[in-house]
Amino acid sequence: MKEKLISLVIPMYCENQVARECYRQVKRVMVEHNIHHEILFINDGSTDETLPILEEIATEDQAVKVISFARNFGHQIAVTAGIAKAKGDAVVVIDADLQDPPELISDMIKLWQEGYHVVYGQRKKRKGETWFKLATAKYFYRFLKEMTDVDIPVDTGDFRLMDRKVVDVFNSMSEKNRFIRGMVSWVGFKQTALLYEREERFAGETKYPLKKMLKLASDGILSFSFKPIKWIEGTGVAIILVGFLMMLYSILVRLSHSYSSIPGWLWIVVLLSGIHLLALGVVGEYIVRIYDESRGRPLYTIEKEINMESDKDDKE
Ligand code: UDP
Ligand code: MG
Repeated sequence: MKEKLISLVIPMYCENQVARECYRQVKRVMVEHNIHHEILFINDGSTDETLPILEEIATEDQAVKVISFARNFGHQIAVTAGIAKAKGDAVVVIDADLQDPPELISDMIKLWQEGYHVVYGQRKKRKGETWFKLATAKYFYRFLKEMTDVDIPVDTGDFRLMDRKVVDVFNSMSEKNRFIRGMVSWVGFKQTALLYEREERFAGETKYPLKKMLKLASDGILSFSFKPIKWIEGTGVAIILVGFLMMLYSILVRLSHSYSSIPGWLWIVVLLSGIHLLALGVVGEYIVRIYDESRGRPLYTIEKEINMESDKDDKE
C-alpha cells in the first residue's frame, strides 16, 4: 500500500477535547496498516484551543496539514475545503469526535482496492444520541429517499472513502448550499456500503444544534428535489376544486333560501392565507438559493494553512 496516497479529511469546530485523541487514533490506524497518508484537519473557525493544538500536532508530524478558516462556515463547507486540498488517490472523510471508528478506514481501503469508487459508512446502530436526534435522522433519511430521484442511501452520513475520479467530479461541483452525501451519490460510479455501529462522541457536545440540522435537512431536500414545488401546485389545484364545489353549494343554499350564509368562513380564510404564505415561503427557499449561487462568493475564507504546499511556497 506504500505507493497509493490516502488523504484523511477531518473537520473540527471547537473540538479541543477530542483533537489530540482523534489524531492519535487515526494515526495509529495509518501506521498499523502501513498506509501512505496525509491528514488534513480543517479548523472551522473554532473559538477554543483547537487551532493551537492542531498547530502543535502539525509541527511534530509533517503528514498533518491544517487549513484554518477565518470564521465558522459549517461542517459541509469544511469538508468541501478538505476534499479540494487533498492530494490522495483516495480521500476519506471522517468526523473528529470518533463517532465513526477510524479502524474502519482500512476496511474501506480494502473495498476500494477491490474496485469500488465510493465506500460509504452506513449506520446500523447509533449509540449515545438523544431520542430526538435518532428519530429525526431516521425519518429524515427515509423522507429524503422518497423525495429525490438521486439514490441517496439511508442512514448514511459523510463518513466515506472516495476515489480520485469521484473527488475530481465533486471538486467541479460549485454549488453553495452543499449536501455532500447527496452530491457524492449524484456523481455515480461504483458505490457500496460498509455497515457499522456509530459510537458515542469521545468528548464534548454535539456541534450540530437543531438550527444546523434544519439547514442541512433543507439543503438535502431542496438541492435534490423539486417535489415541494409540485406539492404546492397540487395543493393549489385541490383548493380550487374545493372552492368551486363550495361555490356551487352556496349558490344552491341561497336559491333554496334555507340559510343566509355558510358558517365557518373565518377558518377557511385563515387556513388559505397560511397555505399561501407557506407556498410563497417554499418558492422563496428556492429563490434564495438561486440568489446565493448567482452572487458568486467564494465558499470559504482561509486564514492560515500549515504544512500545505502553498504554505511552503510562501516561506521559500
Ligand atoms: N463541525 C464543523 N463545523 C461546524 C459543526 C461541526 O466542522 O459548524 C464538525 C465537528 O467538529 C465534527 C463534525 O463536524 O468533526 C460533526 O459534528 P458533530 O459530531 O458535532 O455532529 P453530530 O455527530 O452530533 O451530528
Ligand atoms: Mg458527532
